[in-house]
Amino acid sequence: MNSPSAASHPVAADVRRLTLNPAEGVRASSRRRLPLVISLFTLVALALPVFAAPGWKAGLAKAVITPEKAVWLAGYGSKRAPDGKLHDLWMKALALEDAEGRRVVLITSDFQGVPKVMSDRVFEQLQRQFKLERAQVMFTFSHNHCGPRLGDDLVDYYPIEAAQVALVEEYTALMVTNCVAMVGESLARLAPANLQQGEGKATFAVNRRNNKEAEVPGIIARGEPLKGPVDHSVPVLTVTRPGGKLEAVLFGYACHPTTLSFLTWCGDYPGFAQLAIEQAHPGAMAMFVNTCGGDQNPLPRRSVELCERYGKMLAAGVEEALRQPLKPVSSGLRTAFEMIDLPYLKTVSREELEAAVKETNAIRARWATRMLQELDRRKQFPDAYPYPVHAWRLGTEMLIIGMGAETVVDYALRFKREFGPGTWVMGYADDMIAYIPSRRVWEEGGYEGGTFLFEYGRPAFRWAGNIEDRIAASVHKLAQQVGAVKAAK
Ligand SMILES: [Zn+2]
Repeated sequence: MNSPSAASHPVAADVRRLTLNPAEGVRASSRRRLPLVISLFTLVALALPVFAAPGWKAGLAKAVITPEKAVWLAGYGSKRAPDGKLHDLWMKALALEDAEGRRVVLITSDFQGVPKVMSDRVFEQLQRQFKLERAQVMFTFSHNHCGPRLGDDLVDYYPIEAAQVALVEEYTALMVTNCVAMVGESLARLAPANLQQGEGKATFAVNRRNNKEAEVPGIIARGEPLKGPVDHSVPVLTVTRPGGKLEAVLFGYACHPTTLSFLTWCGDYPGFAQLAIEQAHPGAMAMFVNTCGGDQNPLPRRSVELCERYGKMLAAGVEEALRQPLKPVSSGLRTAFEMIDLPYLKTVSREELEAAVKETNAIRARWATRMLQELDRRKQFPDAYPYPVHAWRLGTEMLIIGMGAETVVDYALRFKREFGPGTWVMGYADDMIAYIPSRRVWEEGGYEGGTFLFEYGRPAFRWAGNIEDRIAASVHKLAQQVGAVKAAK
């Protein structure tokens, strides 16, 4: 497959050859030379995105996060001790600096869920060591269910074993240290770069609320349409050096990395996709963000073969984008960030907890026991949860909206419609929290919209019904602060 760098190489090489000795062209006054001079200018004009001072600087770094000790795999409600690895897990950092010296760092990772207790430590250290404020850093995670446990993420999902608690704590602390060091490396490597964006497509994500998993293979085999909203777009951002070398490919997709539920470390479909892209573009770093895949599953699933196939389908979506003419992203960074309160419908009462302790549902019983202890300590639960919202404007061409937790696909569809082309809408940033339903999904109820906040350790069963309105108000406010223009209706 041709990368954008490969596409620009022939022109770049020609211009380099011609411009190496520009005096020759200038001195040439004979008519014979004139076509060469004209073609030289044409080539220079054509190659401007490659040869103009980029305005951007970019720095990249990555670190292996595959646990060396027996930390359990995260994301399903059971004990899952690891039995080896298919491939390594990674966290990766892309640092960007505009011509005025404004910086951001995007962290992507093969983690299942980064909890607030962990990301807060990273943000605090990044502030102290590198003067990076919250508005300048997004810590995203793919939500990979073959990744390790971290901090208190989904803490009531797992049986309590003291040795495991200690291992998770030790691993989390190591990841905080390594993450901060990795960001430091990405900043130290800031060097001139060009950014370009494009979009491809991949179709394996299925709306899991509107289609019964067991029926999906039959529906697909019969060629019938699947139901419910999906976002099959694959947004792509490339980082190339002024000489044309492709340095990084950032890409997104809205789908749960839950193809596999076995006990072997791997990055699920995003892991396979990143490997395929890096194989096709040696020396380039592939970075994945889960856009708004809270209610999307890769179906059918549960085999390594399918997982690898979805990874390759996603990589093919990226390659499709790279084959099209990519759009340059001009230099210029604006960032805005805020924590907003997401109120619960009602916090859980002592009576409800005392009843839940006796339930046979192990997650619910562990949660109720822990909540009762907490209630003894603090007397009262907070009635809202602090929710992170980001807006980054890159040049005049891109708006990146970053939101915490498991946002359902409606958020991506809505904000892309409202802010137009060049808008990326990402969930799974900074904090795992819980599912974040839209108004529609909240009204419908069910797993992502209903009474399941307890699974995430929250002191309530449901969010208040105006959750989408609150988030949308914040997104619009921040987008306005960074100068984004609302798309014409
Ligand atoms: Zn999930």
